Amino acid sequence: MAVQTSPRPLDGPLPGGTAGAVVTVEPMVTGRIQVAKAIQASPSGEMGLIKSLRAMRGETWAVPVPAFLIHHPSAGPLLVDTGLHPSIATDPDANLGRLAASFTEPEVTKGEDVPARLRAKGIEPGTLRTVVMTHLHVDHASAVSEFPGAAFIVSKAEWEDATSGLIPILKYYRPQQFDHAFDFRTVDYEAASINSFSTFGRSFDLFGDGSVVLVSTPGHSAGHQSVVLKTGAGPFVIAGDAIFLEDQLDPGAALAARARDRHNYERSLRELALYRREHPSATITPGHDPGFYERLPALIG
Ligand SMILES: [Zn+2]
Repeated sequence: MAVQTSPRPLDGPLPGGTAGAVVTVEPMVTGRIQVAKAIQASPSGEMGLIKSLRAMRGETWAVPVPAFLIHHPSAGPLLVDTGLHPSIATDPDANLGRLAASFTEPEVTKGEDVPARLRAKGIEPGTLRTVVMTHLHVDHASAVSEFPGAAFIVSKAEWEDATSGLIPILKYYRPQQFDHAFDFRTVDYEAASINSFSTFGRSFDLFGDGSVVLVSTPGHSAGHQSVVLKTGAGPFVIAGDAIFLEDQLDPGAALAARARDRHNYERSLRELALYRREHPSATITPGHDPGFYERLPALIG
């Protein structure tokens, strides 16, 4: 599906970095969606489309939809993902479309959405300059419209997959959520300038100071990326949906039933698991783990 807006490539770091910078991070649960347990962690392995649609009628549970507010000492506040849109509290069909709304039964209580959370902290959402998107699935891009002043950093492969094909929702995209005349900036992880970082084969240092490093973790979606933050409390990795549940980095864990590219999904898991082995003190966030966010401190670093 063609979209009106066209992104610009991001070839070098954004301005605002400072040598030695460390950041703080505030995880925010922006609402919940219903997900089939068998889709999140399938002991019998990969499922085809029909089998997974059937599984969605099985046992479901409410999982958190997180977003992250990061404070950089010189680049200012930035977001990773946008969480669920405030309108979902009263009219989920408008934002998510009827199909996704009926499958996910989303729930946002007043004050839980990111714009409300930012205003409560004295940050006007329209003034936010940077939003990193782990990927553009409907539960992550839902509130893009609320940040008209931001540069949205998304991988080139993700942008291309999210804006092509006839029925985007079959890939869990809804272009109406992000097709605004905003400043979309794409990172090309195939470019010659891309470097490895720690255990990750491909990375992009967002401010050029090592405090916010984007790492390519494709597979869950075509161009999924994760974010490695340098905080005062050690490394904090926003893994996005590269893992749904915290224990999915453990050997032999049941993995997601569906992936856009199974081979890449498992390779990204290995890069994350290896990172955890080399940095045992690191926090690595799973995309939709009900228990995890309840245990996480409100402010890290
Ligand atoms: Zn998700």
